[in-house]
Amino acid sequence: MIRLENLGKNMKKMLNKSNLNNSYQQILQKVYNDEDVKKFINEHRSELTDVAIKKSASSLYEFINKRDNMKNGRDQYAKGYEPRLEINNHLIEVTYQPTQAMLQAAQQQTIKNNVQAIGLAKNLKDAKLDDFYQENERIDALNNALNFISKYENSSNGFEQGIYLSGSFGVGKSYLLSAIANKLANDNVKSMFIHFPSFATKMKSLIGSGNNSVADELDRVKTVPVLMIDDIGADSMSTWIRDEILGVILEYRMQNQLPTFFSSNFSMEQLEEEHLAVNAKGDYEPLKAKRLMERIHFLARPIEMGGENRRNR
Ligand code: ADP
Ligand code: MG
Repeated sequence: MIRLENLGKNMKKMLNKSNLNNSYQQILQKVYNDEDVKKFINEHRSELTDVAIKKSASSLYEFINKRDNMKNGRDQYAKGYEPRLEINNHLIEVTYQPTQAMLQAAQQQTIKNNVQAIGLAKNLKDAKLDDFYQENERIDALNNALNFISKYENSSNGFEQGIYLSGSFGVGKSYLLSAIANKLANDNVKSMFIHFPSFATKMKSLIGSGNNSVADELDRVKTVPVLMIDDIGADSMSTWIRDEILGVILEYRMQNQLPTFFSSNFSMEQLEEEHLAVNAKGDYEPLKAKRLMERIHFLARPIEMGGENRRNR
């Protein structure tokens, strides 16, 4: 609640100029004949003396002005707040309360802020489970997503496995992950969506930028209540990204039983053999791949998603 005393003072100055006598009378008439004003004075008659009602003229005038400006859409001043009459120190004063529209906008913003994203395509930001195409090849993924959400939101602290979504390009894997994040956000659960190749690029760029920025970013990803790792396997990974970044994230999330989702063009088996086991230099490291896969298996259950390619339609 804010008080806009300046406007009140300016009005007073204006109204007090006695050369405005005639129009002053007219304004007073308008003020005291106003339905809202009459109603307010009636309701609070016992708390108000005649002198107080007179002294409150400028506040009442301010109230009427602001209210009518809002109605006509000419509201330049204190946008998002609506005037209300109130008794303060035995006089009538105008106070300003946030409008319903502004409260709703603020609430929408809070919900949006529950999802942090790195490399999430613009057209996927507002993905909704309600809009998800329900073809046979996708329904399993959708049901598993809904199942996760209801179990996660209704269990106090038990671990819920996420989903490892595999399927070819354009079937809606990223869409579904974003839709899950948005639904959780709506229910006040914080999550993070990281397009893994973009995230890897970001982490590399943070090296040497000082201030612990790699560690800070890694911490944010490690600890977020629900994590979506999108498009894992799309780019070849350096050993550093695989072991010091991905490995650390998965290890932490497994130890702390934090739900984690994945999407990939690869099945789990393919990811292990064709992606994780071979580093960017071409070295073959099957044991490292196995360790990582154990964590992924722990964190998420594999679901295959099919259907038409939905891109560029
Ligand atoms: P993938 O990640 O599997 O490659 P995307 O999630 O990027 O596929 O989906 C490809 C395109 O199709 C996107 O532009 C997305 O907006 C659209 N899309 C995919 N699935 C759906 C869906 N179920 N409902 C609405 N739009 C979808
Ligand atoms: Mg995708």
